Amino acid sequence: MGALSIRNLSKRFGKTQAVSNFSIEVEDSEFLVLLGPSGCGKSTILRCLAGLEQPDEGEIYVDGSPITNLAPKARDVAMVFQNYALYPHMSVFDNLAFPLKMRKLPVAQIRERVKKTAELLQIGELLTRKPKELSGGQRQRVAVGRAVIREPKLFLMDEPLSNLDAKLRTYMRSELKALQKELGVTTVYVTHDQVEAMTMADRVAIMNDGVLLQLGPPREIYDDPSDVFVAGFLGSPPTNLIDCSLVKEKGRCFLETQDFRIDIGKRLLDYQKGRRFTLGIKPRFLTLSKDQNGIQGEVFLVEPTGDEVIVNVKIGDISLKSLSEHNTEFRPGQKVWVKIPSEKIYLFDSENGKRTAVK
Ligand code: ATP
Repeated sequence: MGALSIRNLSKRFGKTQAVSNFSIEVEDSEFLVLLGPSGCGKSTILRCLAGLEQPDEGEIYVDGSPITNLAPKARDVAMVFQNYALYPHMSVFDNLAFPLKMRKLPVAQIRERVKKTAELLQIGELLTRKPKELSGGQRQRVAVGRAVIREPKLFLMDEPLSNLDAKLRTYMRSELKALQKELGVTTVYVTHDQVEAMTMADRVAIMNDGVLLQLGPPREIYDDPSDVFVAGFLGSPPTNLIDCSLVKEKGRCFLETQDFRIDIGKRLLDYQKGRRFTLGIKPRFLTLSKDQNGIQGEVFLVEPTGDEVIVNVKIGDISLKSLSEHNTEFRPGQKVWVKIPSEKIYLFDSENGKRTAVK
């Protein structure tokens, strides 16, 4: 098994800085998810780990040994791609056996390992079939089997579930996670799906524009975003973000927009008045009522999601989302009063997007 260390990795393609100075320490047996929007550099990092791309700068170590300049074959890493990349003309048995044949293992040993892996992934019945005779989920399992069969030090997965339908994806999520824990193989998993990241990861690394913004256990990054991008990316719907400027009156601070202001007590006294902040409030903490108490707004869209309802409200030019119980009585066009509880807000410095340290 392997501990992975990525230090100051950078990669540029022409004018695109795909990855900038990316560093991370992944523990032995850890399940790390790289999460971020399309084009943020996740796959480039994975490809550098696999040896399919050469970084411009930086070093990669597995168990303390540098692998940055090793050929892909010499790295002892296995990768599962989005499209599975199974050999179409080979049976499931031969697909599984292929990495071992390449390593010239004795036939008896190959047979034994294929049998064991097929049992582990519950594909023992399928060994004589060709990939086109398998369902999406079965193909996905064969691809995983082919990766784990040679007991690599590192397991790299690039959106391996994105070709499956929603139900199967949910099922395979828990299967893959359980398998990873059983095998104890250090895993780096790339996705842009936050639910996948939150449910599978030991830790999540959130990226944007080639930069690592926050690293931590799923709950921590969700509850405690350190960057405005992270707050605006996580959650369904994500945190509401409101641009404000700081007003100070009689020793108290207010965050002001064109249409309303929020009393935040003494929280930003150390900052200059007029300074710009982004206020974040999670939809479930934004309450709506008809009691004419709070900031007046108007409902413009109601989106039932099953258990809950997303109520979209406009206050002047600002649109906000509130998450309520499914039996909400609000209707489009209705006037409502919005409460933004100041103890539930996040404050981000508008200049650099970082969470503001407040007393
Ligand atoms: P996705 O989720 O869409 O796969 P990603 O986060 O994995 O995106 P990358 O594939 O790593 O992102 O790409 C990062 C940036 O580098 C993108 O702007 C992409 O267009 C660019 N890029 C990646 N590979 C190449 C390449 N071979 N040549 C030129 N540009 C590239």
